[in-house]
Amino acid sequence: MHSAAGIEDRLFTPARIRLTAWYVSVLAAVLIVLGTALYLVVREQLLNGVDNGVKLVAAKATEEWFATGNVDVTGLSTGPYTVNVMTPGHLVGVTSTDGYIHLNRASMQAADMNGSDLRSSGSSGDRQRVYSVKVSAPPNQVALIQVTRSTEPEHEALSKLLAGLLIGGAGGLVLAGVGGWWLAGKSLRPVRVAFNRQHAFVSDASHELRTPLAVIRANAEFLQQEQPENVEARDIVSETDRLSSLVDALLAVARDDDRGAKALHMRVDLAEVVEATVASFQTVTADHELELTHATPSELMVMGDREQLRQVLVILLDNAVRYTPAGGRIHVQAREDGKEAVLTVHDTGIGIPEEALPQVFERFYRADDARNRQSGGVGLGLAIARELVTRHSGRISVTSTEGAGSTFTVRLPRDT
Ligand code: ADP
Repeated sequence: MHSAAGIEDRLFTPARIRLTAWYVSVLAAVLIVLGTALYLVVREQLLNGVDNGVKLVAAKATEEWFATGNVDVTGLSTGPYTVNVMTPGHLVGVTSTDGYIHLNRASMQAADMNGSDLRSSGSSGDRQRVYSVKVSAPPNQVALIQVTRSTEPEHEALSKLLAGLLIGGAGGLVLAGVGGWWLAGKSLRPVRVAFNRQHAFVSDASHELRTPLAVIRANAEFLQQEQPENVEARDIVSETDRLSSLVDALLAVARDDDRGAKALHMRVDLAEVVEATVASFQTVTADHELELTHATPSELMVMGDREQLRQVLVILLDNAVRYTPAGGRIHVQAREDGKEAVLTVHDTGIGIPEEALPQVFERFYRADDARNRQSGGVGLGLAIARELVTRHSGRISVTSTEGAGSTFTVRLPRDT
């Protein structure tokens, strides 16, 4: 049984987070627009009501003034309203608790000049709406009437509304976050199931294929030893090798994905990895009539998994051997470059056409399939190498000149 939990979490958790973030942002935008509109409409309504109120009381006072030439300020000053009347040389007003008649002089003056004046005054805690109007009845009875009403109740109501909207909105967003997370998980479930099934299939299929392949190869090899001239037997061996490396690569991709989440925190000496790997390749390169050299510092430490780093180098060396004709040279170098460890594998082989360079790290990509068919690869090596390097927070790149050779460069953060 091959659990794909590691890769699954790496793939699906960010998608789930993104989906949830979208739910919450859309809801937040809707709430902000609706909340602002609601607040503004309510505010407008409340303050309009206040304005209508003061004007109504002023109209009553005016009526009294016309009818009787006098205004009963105490009678009119009911509820939240206070009425003051000023006639030439005479001020009639409601005396407040401090013994004074409070009057907004600026508003009076404005009304005297313009006929009427409506304004807000006072500061937080004592806000008022002041309406002043100038009335004149023949022959020359002039009066200024001022009606004042506190707007504190309205402002208090608006503060409560704002607090309610903010608390309700924040609560709504938290609920949307939780619900969105749950919904995103639910909607991703079928994709997860399909992904797991496919992952397990690749993994199991690779496993099941390995044993029969090994048996076929052993038998064919036996046949080949018995009958060295048998071309078919030789073909079976080489084709089985090709198939085996495909199966190995598939298994590696599947298994490596599983291990993806595993932390890579062992100190590894890259110089030692290079020396050991190069040593193990000497026979192969000698068989292919290639010269294999290397240059390393005495020590070059990186953080990671020794086996995976060795696998990267094996893939690069395998390719160098495969794509370099007899008589060529392969050079492996490890060196430090500032905060990085740099590993290069250079060969004097057939090179890679420029248009193929960007794709060589793609899965199953093979530059010029016809040319490569005899070389046994399946186009997974570099994809695996890149996956392994990325997992070590590194980068892999290639430069190549067709017909002259290729250089693969791996850069990894150095452990100092
Ligand atoms: P393969 O199994 O085909 O070698 P890889 O992923 O390792 O798959 O490489 C992809 C392709 O890149 C190869 O098919 C080959 O065309 C090209 N390539 C890789 N390494 C070299 C090299 N050292 N020299 C020339 N071509 C190379």
